[in-house]
Amino acid sequence: MSGPLLPYGRQTIEDDDIAAVAQALRADFLTTGPLVDAFETAFAEKVGARHAVACANGTAALHLAMLALDVQPGEVCIAPSITFLATANCARYVGAEVVFADVDPTTGLMTPDTLTQAISRVGDRKLRAVLPVHLRGDTAELPALAALAQGAGAVLVEDAPHALGSTMSFGNQAEKVGDARHSAMATFSFHPVKTIATGEGGMVTTNDDQLAQRLKTLRSHGMVKPPGADPWIYEMPEPGFNYRLPDILCALGLSQLSKLDRFAARRRALAARYLEALKPLAPLARPAARPDWSDPVLHLMTVLIDFPAAGKTRRQVVDALKARGVGTQVHYIPVHTQPYYRDRYGPLDLPGAQAWYETCLSLPLYPDMADADVGRVVGALAEVLGV
Ligand SMILES: *Cc1c(COP(=O)(O)O)cnc(C)c1O
Repeated sequence: MSGPLLPYGRQTIEDDDIAAVAQALRADFLTTGPLVDAFETAFAEKVGARHAVACANGTAALHLAMLALDVQPGEVCIAPSITFLATANCARYVGAEVVFADVDPTTGLMTPDTLTQAISRVGDRKLRAVLPVHLRGDTAELPALAALAQGAGAVLVEDAPHALGSTMSFGNQAEKVGDARHSAMATFSFHPVKTIATGEGGMVTTNDDQLAQRLKTLRSHGMVKPPGADPWIYEMPEPGFNYRLPDILCALGLSQLSKLDRFAARRRALAARYLEALKPLAPLARPAARPDWSDPVLHLMTVLIDFPAAGKTRRQVVDALKARGVGTQVHYIPVHTQPYYRDRYGPLDLPGAQAWYETCLSLPLYPDMADADVGRVVGALAEVLGV
């Protein structure tokens, strides 16, 4: 059964990716050069948005989105509790407060119901942004979430690092994650476990010309060139950051983006295999549920396991899988239970997030896995659970 450890996710870097980086290293610009524009243009086209703005990482993308919206101290942003820390932290970077939304315990996603509950906890404060996360690659119900946000005077900012390549259909029209049709902006990450990798890297997409301009200014110190000014002149109307993505990494991003369709097809094929292979393990272990409208390129192959029914703790299952060469990860620890947020907001009862956390386990999923690896992983899981 055992073999080399399969991680829960990893990058696919090929010789032409390496050649593209080497070429960028020999060129004139290591940081802001022509490949930044080229990557942004190709990315915007790929996801169907008017603008894409590259930045240092997915966390910087979220921070820039908050800055571009001019979210103020004391205002409120709503984030789901089941996500990576950064979705909530970006609100704190600008002094805003976080109201955590619960999630559906079978999908891990924020829903219209859980958003409605969260909005009721905003109170007298000003709600500025709602940050749905397309957890695992399955998509949140954007039109309904956008309507609720709009009714409360806020906009959506999609935190979309899990869902590059995913599509969704509301009504009979398919649309791509990142087209920002229902949101002010969507953010992406190119961390090595994400669907395309640049090491560190991020992107914000939007259809709003002014937001795009603000994102570009804020990612480079807040510097602007007044029209017609002398060549050395720059002005800083407000301080920004150095959140640029260098030309070297944009070369890698462009090369990786050209492979997105292949990576996505491979992820879809592996996920289909998983869904089939996991059937006999139900109800002890079953894949996270798929919303009707979602046609995901899964970033994570998350299964929900009834550990008490299996007579095993999650730790025992994780260790036993590791001993059989299967790496796993938990996505995620509810963010509202982190010491910082618990201290700031007190204990919070979010039963969907708690139930999700107690059952979730992500199995290996990445394009370089062999078909046979899926059988090996599910076989190991069946053995460990005693199915
Ligand atoms: C990866 C990720 C981030 C942060 O991206 P980095 O590039 O690691 O900063 C934010 N939100 C979600 C949902 C992520 O998966």
